[in-house]
Amino acid sequence: MTKYGAGVYSVYDMPHDQEIERHGLTEDRTYAEPGHEIKVVRDVDVVVVGGGPGGVAAAITAARNGAKTVLLERYGHLGGMATGGLVNIIPNLGDIYGRQWIGGFCQEYISRLAARDAASFTAPEAWGKPDPAEVTKYLKANMRHFYVRKNREGEDVAIYSAVIDPEIGKDELNIMCAEAGVELLLHSWVAAPIMDGNTVKGVLVETKSGRQALMAKVVIDSTGDGDLVRDINTEKVEYMRPGSRIAQFGFCFWIANVDIEKYDRLRTEEPEVIAEASKKITEEGGRPFFCYGLLENQTGVVWVHRLIGSLHQTEPEEMTYVDTSARAYAVKSFELLKKYMPGFEKSFIMLTAPQLGTSGGLRMIGEYYLTEEDMDLDEPYEDTIAIFADNDRGDASLEHPKTFVPYRALVPKDIEGFLVACRAFSADGEFSEFFNLIPHCMCFGQAAGAAAAIAVKKGIPVRDVPYAELKELLLKGGAILP
Ligand SMILES: Cc1cc2nc3c(=O)[nH]c(=O)nc-3n(C[C@H](O)[C@H](O)[C@H](O)COP(=O)(O)OP(=O)(O)OC[C@H]3O[C@@H](n4cnc5c(N)ncnc54)[C@H](O)[C@@H]3O)c2cc1C
Repeated sequence: MTKYGAGVYSVYDMPHDQEIERHGLTEDRTYAEPGHEIKVVRDVDVVVVGGGPGGVAAAITAARNGAKTVLLERYGHLGGMATGGLVNIIPNLGDIYGRQWIGGFCQEYISRLAARDAASFTAPEAWGKPDPAEVTKYLKANMRHFYVRKNREGEDVAIYSAVIDPEIGKDELNIMCAEAGVELLLHSWVAAPIMDGNTVKGVLVETKSGRQALMAKVVIDSTGDGDLVRDINTEKVEYMRPGSRIAQFGFCFWIANVDIEKYDRLRTEEPEVIAEASKKITEEGGRPFFCYGLLENQTGVVWVHRLIGSLHQTEPEEMTYVDTSARAYAVKSFELLKKYMPGFEKSFIMLTAPQLGTSGGLRMIGEYYLTEEDMDLDEPYEDTIAIFADNDRGDASLEHPKTFVPYRALVPKDIEGFLVACRAFSADGEFSEFFNLIPHCMCFGQAAGAAAAIAVKKGIPVRDVPYAELKELLLKGGAILP
């Protein structure tokens, strides 16, 4: 549980007390890879590594502002966790008082999807209000943690959050990249940075055609897990508090063909029937909890979010253990739902997330290191690039409903030609606990992309980008700033 008592996220569904043997061989043995010539396949202004929420925002913003940009993604689709991880809720766009704080790229993406009937969000007239219809809709869907908070009077109020269709979401990102002129290279797994002293000059990429090199004036790490941060000689931290939201994997899946009307009716009229079914599922080793799908026309689809504690989210042994055991647990839970829960008789698993959900990993310690204390500051920084609604800290959120983020949290201390625009931004475990979600990473991406474009145009280091110019580009892109 979070120490803030709001308890909005972090409850592990699946026990994970297994000690994994991580390195097979115990002896300290190394292998020196022989040096060899690698073909340079691109030399561009900006290379963005990772096509998740941070990466797409970074690449599209850089390209829109004139930088020749390549976006590299290891899988065959864009969106990262927001699409491939099936964590398709974009929460906390506004605060408990009904004010919207996240606009820009994130809002544009939601609006574009809404225009395609592929996103829905809390009714604007209900933001920050104890609107009974809206609040009940989300509570009934088991979505309190994304859509409903308590106000000062202790009433349930709706906050501005959205849900997107991940499949149309992938397509829309492809379209946005193409429109902006981003060169997209999928199936390209970045293995390492190319360094010249303390300057990042490019990246090495593993592809089905072998290893390739791409050179760039600015490289942006949007891998989520900080894959480039790992190999760059700069200060880093991996601290996660055991039991916290970021100290967990997620294994999400969708069950379809659920008779929600039947389930709902019994839940209201004969709650003891649902309680008995839930008890049996739990006793037999499954978990009965699920959320209703909130997308229009997806009646009968429910969303299941399995959370598994872990402090080692990039180790293949741990990931293998979690992927296999979480899958077994998910399927078992599904089979028990089908067996006991009214409404699930004809259901089936429609999809398990193609990507295992990772929430925490390596983070850079940059020019500014955000900590718990920054959440209680009510004044913006002189280089503020985003304002986040602070909704998840209970009473503290009522006192401090917004949190500012400085550009320096994306800039490394002692490395040139490099920015971080993803979960690996410069923050401790407490700050990351609340502010590394999809909308936040999109804000980091938009700022990093704009800064990279300015740096390239002016021929200056990214750390020297004038804030006034950065702010102007961000405002032009719809960002909400002080
Ligand atoms: C179970 C779970 C539930 C969550 N629920 C929500 C939610 O409902 N709402 C919300 O806002 N947030 C949620 N989050 C958090 C959110 O998903 C992430 O914080 C967010 O996606 C981070 O964006 P990112 O761009 O930093 O990284 P990611 O989404 O992880 O994207 C990183 C991208 O980089 C690619 N990549 C990684 N390494 C490489 C490499 N070496 N080379 C090339 N490509 C690479 C990946 O394939 C991926 O596409 C959840 C997280 C989990 C685990």
